[in-house]
Amino acid sequence: MLELSNITKSYTMGANVVYALKGVNLRIEDGEFIAIMGPSGSGKSTLTHILGLLDVPTSGSYQLNGNEISHLTEDNLAILRREEIGFVFQQFNLLPRMSAEENVGLPLLYSESTTGSKFPKELLDRVGLGPRAGHHPNELSGGQQQRVAIARALVNRPRMVLADEPTGNLDSTSEHEILTILKELNAQGITVIIVTHEEEIGKQAKRLIRLRDGVVVSDERQVGSTVPVVQSTPPAPKKVEAKKGASFFTELFAHIGQGFRTLAGNKVRTALSMLGILIGVASVVAMLALGKGAQKAIETQLASLGSNLLILHAGAVRVGGVTQQAGATTRLTYEDSLALKAAIPELNEAAASVNGRVQVTWENKNWSTQLLGGASSYARMHSLVPEIGRFFTDAENLSRARVAVIGATVVREVFEGRSPIGEMIKLNKVPFQVIGILPEKGATGWRDQDDIVVIPVATAMYRLLGKLYLDSIEMEVRSATDVAKAQDDALELMLKRKRVPLSQKDDAFDIRNMADIQEALSASSRTMSTLLAAIAAISLLVGGIGIMNIMLVSVTERTKEIGLRKAIGARRADILFQFLAESVVVSFSGGLAGVILGWLITLGISAVTGWSTSVSPESILLAFGCSAFIGVVFGVYPARKASRLHPIDALRFE
Ligand code: ADP
Ligand code: MG
Repeated sequence: MLELSNITKSYTMGANVVYALKGVNLRIEDGEFIAIMGPSGSGKSTLTHILGLLDVPTSGSYQLNGNEISHLTEDNLAILRREEIGFVFQQFNLLPRMSAEENVGLPLLYSESTTGSKFPKELLDRVGLGPRAGHHPNELSGGQQQRVAIARALVNRPRMVLADEPTGNLDSTSEHEILTILKELNAQGITVIIVTHEEEIGKQAKRLIRLRDGVVVSDERQVGSTVPVVQSTPPAPKKVEAKKGASFFTELFAHIGQGFRTLAGNKVRTALSMLGILIGVASVVAMLALGKGAQKAIETQLASLGSNLLILHAGAVRVGGVTQQAGATTRLTYEDSLALKAAIPELNEAAASVNGRVQVTWENKNWSTQLLGGASSYARMHSLVPEIGRFFTDAENLSRARVAVIGATVVREVFEGRSPIGEMIKLNKVPFQVIGILPEKGATGWRDQDDIVVIPVATAMYRLLGKLYLDSIEMEVRSATDVAKAQDDALELMLKRKRVPLSQKDDAFDIRNMADIQEALSASSRTMSTLLAAIAAISLLVGGIGIMNIMLVSVTERTKEIGLRKAIGARRADILFQFLAESVVVSFSGGLAGVILGWLITLGISAVTGWSTSVSPESILLAFGCSAFIGVVFGVYPARKASRLHPIDALRFE
């Protein structure tokens, strides 16, 4: 039972106000079959929209089953639309990408389905379309589409069916079929209200209401009605408050499923919006993996240097206000290394070293490589004791012997698999005998550590490079706890030996321990990683904005669909959820593809550069989390926009 008192509806169009309804009073009992007629523009549609809760009156009271409509929340209205009312539109308003059966079942998505999943099929049978259940709307005639729409209106077992010119677009045969169905429904106790232009249809109704200029001009019960009397008692009104949505997970899966299908229906657009996220996630994954790989490479390289190591370089000293060449007055000599070892008991070793590049020749082979002149203790200090052959001795160093220990890369390039031990090679045309091969260290990070030739430091200085001074002195401290003291003592001794003025002692020497070096290197590699990740994050952000654009377009394009979904009972939250699900599906699939792509890129770079990169589970989680988060954040705005539309405004949208 419903009752309208003094209902008005006005539209403000610029300066003037148009009244579509000017005070309608109406009482409709359960089980009536009513036809509403009147000239075009008389307010018939406006009245049915208000009756069907698709629109709200400007003033007046509407009571439905004793509930004052103006007191209900928007969600309660949606629930009433879904549970109590079936609306049939002149334009059918079926969703084009769904089959007839899916269209009929659509309202069940929003309701606590008590009818079972077979019900849509049953309803299609009842309107004579059982065999057409799998067809899409564009494969059905107008009359058939309208019958599908009627079946959809019935799927939640409404107590009232409203039809706004349901046969307006149909031929007379279809018109007859539709009318027959509506009569049958009425015979089961369902209230039927039909808006029509046809006097023929009006005559058949039990009650005929005529409108003109927004007021009821006649309202009569007709004796000649052909509608059969109600055979069963009408269904009892359902309680509004008791109705909740379907269970959370059923709803979630239904929405995600729908999201996938809408996206699959628009493949190019979906792919384009995914692209942004894909690139973003791929770069995040790859950047993090490369950063990690570089860091690992640095760490292994440092670890191979040995611990408790101090490295002394000459610094720059100002004499008379002029900055001299590095080491101008503080050059390191071989004697310095001996003095350091002799004077500081904490030192296990103080090894002189020089660097350079040399040309290796053997038979017709030529190879340019790094030269290191070192002390006999070099091998032990750097864990480089040869497994094949031997390292040179102190005696060989003192006698400036021409012996060389060569790295694996040099062996490969120059000897091509033959044994080099005992062979005579030439370094910058000076003959040397190969006495050992350095154990392989691998190419960690930036350079090949096996591309090297090591010879005694004295030989290197006086016989090969013509250097009178050392490049550095490496000191090994006996115990880690003495490193700081040894460092201070070594510096003090060097300042005294070189007679460095007090004012310049800070710049005279550069002495570092491994902790310093490690710290500096990891700090710079951390900065690098952060920078890379930040760049990758920006591309993720851009991807997110792409998704928002596409979703906004999608909302505008599907405004009518949103209106329809609301008309059949979707709550605000349902619409919000639907669009969010779609954007999360896009960003999540994009994220998945991005992780795979990023991983492939990482593998590719590893293969090319030989770095030991690693894609960590955390970086994958991070990328996934980011993409889902972006889907939600950038989906919220379009989804909210969609959910706030009024059903009838959305339906009218062109
Ligand atoms: P009917 O369905 O009887 O042809 P309507 O109820 O659609 O009539 O419209 C009644 C009156 O209200 C008409 O004068 C129409 O121009 C006006 N009207 C309907 N909807 C709107 C709207 N959204 N904005 C402005 N005027 C409207
Ligand atoms: Mg109309």
